[in-house]
Amino acid sequence: MTNDDERHEGGCFCGAVRYAFRGPPEWSAHCHCRSCQWATGAGFATWCATAKSNFEVTAGRIKVAETSPGIERGFCGDCGTSLTYMARRVLEGQDWTDQAWFLAPTLDDPSIAAPSGHVYVSHQQPWVKLDDGLPRFEEF
Ligand SMILES: [Zn+2]
Ligand SMILES: [Zn+2]
Repeated sequence: MTNDDERHEGGCFCGAVRYAFRGPPEWSAHCHCRSCQWATGAGFATWCATAKSNFEVTAGRIKVAETSPGIERGFCGDCGTSLTYMARRVLEGQDWTDQAWFLAPTLDDPSIAAPSGHVYVSHQQPWVKLDDGLPRFEEF
């Protein structure tokens, strides 16, 4: 059962940045690309998404780094928690410019964001071993 009136919140480790959105995430997936590994300092990153128009920063300010042209990765300037990914341009034919991505573990309740697959497994580290049975995609 989904309820579009449900409201979810999340934020950074120190609590300076808080965000909220309505409804369930549009999707969630594990990304193994090198950029996400670097940006999050983790073996892979678990993202979920909602419409940009449905994503609201309710406390503090997300600091943004343009890690590649048109790609803005957001984080807390106080504690450094990686938070968001926003595309300002169409990438390799894929238009995510109307989506706000946020890292599932930054949700107050990350269990609502069960991933549906793995993307960019062409970059997956050989020491990441997964047998969750989810679909795997070489790229996105
Ligand atoms: Zn913080
Ligand atoms: Zn990635």
